[in-house]
Amino acid sequence: MNFHVITLFPEVCKAYTDASVLGRAQKTNKGKGAKVRGRKIQVEYYNPRDFSTNKHKKVDDRPYGGGPGMVMAAEPILKAWQKAVGRKKDQKKVKTLIMSPRGKQFSNTLAKKYAKQYDHLVLISGRYEGIDSRVKKALKAEEVSVGDYVLTGGELPALSIIDAVSRLVPGV
Ligand code: SAM
Repeated sequence: MNFHVITLFPEVCKAYTDASVLGRAQKTNKGKGAKVRGRKIQVEYYNPRDFSTNKHKKVDDRPYGGGPGMVMAAEPILKAWQKAVGRKKDQKKVKTLIMSPRGKQFSNTLAKKYAKQYDHLVLISGRYEGIDSRVKKALKAEEVSVGDYVLTGGELPALSIIDAVSRLVPGV
């Protein structure tokens, strides 16, 4: 299983996914009898700031269609997604999730479905007042919530989903 996390705070998430069970699952190990075991999962990070064409690397924007506050701009996220999975031949094996407190409630049933049906999960972590609504449409993404509360960002939700799905990957 390949996880692609789009986040403004990759270093925060990486500290978690490089540790313990998830860290070991990303390594190739020499098992008993010099048998090489392949890695079970891969976690890659994409920072929208690296895809911003703005000279100040701005990644926020006013909400498309109006509304209060600022949202994460669509263009850097769409470019990051393109880099992550845009060239994958079998797009049926790619699932894109937007972290959102208004999304579908994440559950073990959903985790099982993701682990079974997909090879690539793209997790988009929001900040500010969320993510430009055009991203969901353009990427045919599903909005997922980890609970009935509002966090400051989508990093903890993304990590929860990676953790729960990884446990269901054989060998992790
Ligand atoms: N008013 C915004 C809304 O209703 O979407 C709140 C945005 S929240 C401050 C910033 C980001 O945190 C969201 O875009 C989302 O990615 C993430 N987030 C917050 N709570 C979440 C939850 N319960 N489940 C999943 N993501 C959450």
